[in-house]
Amino acid sequence: QRMTDLAPIDLVDRVLGSCQSEIEHQRVLVNVEDESGGARIHVDRDQMIQACLNLVLNALQAMESVHEPAAAPGQAVRPRLDIRITSEGDEVHFLFADNGPGIPPTLIDRIFDPFVTTKDSGTGLGLARVFAVAEGHGGWIEARNAAHGGAIFELVIPASQRRA
Ligand code: ADP
Ligand code: MG
Repeated sequence: QRMTDLAPIDLVDRVLGSCQSEIEHQRVLVNVEDESGGARIHVDRDQMIQACLNLVLNALQAMESVHEPAAAPGQAVRPRLDIRITSEGDEVHFLFADNGPGIPPTLIDRIFDPFVTTKDSGTGLGLARVFAVAEGHGGWIEARNAAHGGAIFELVIPASQRRA
């Protein structure tokens, strides 16, 4: 592990940058709220980028299944990804909320298990990896569906002692 101290928004910016063409292609409205208030995290940057990337790619793939790109300009509901970073006590919380179909209820208890996938060519390893990265950093990850539809993933990482 190569541990560094960084601002949580750096990870989000980096991940969104690497998905930019897919976000534009799907015409996804991305909204980022950084309410970390100067909190920092002490993490393996590459592992955390990979974890956040897995969550964003899953959201994009989920929204692809319900939002038709060609119909985007006039469609009733645009694909939308909301990312929120908050500082809660000694923890930094990353929320990834999409307006896709949500997580199938039959799957929700097993979603972080390896090889659980609903995709034709999915590996089912993405969320297992996110889970391992969260635990490896002394944090955790939780999945739920929003009342108004769509999936929410909450990734929690202990805050670093140093502040900006
Ligand atoms: P894969 O992407 O290869 O299927 P993952 O471990 O990343 O494997 O995800 C496992 C399964 O969890 C997906 O196949 C999908 O059914 C479900 N899932 C993950 N993210 C979302 C999401 N944002 N919305 C709805 N379902 C999701
Ligand atoms: Mg995946």
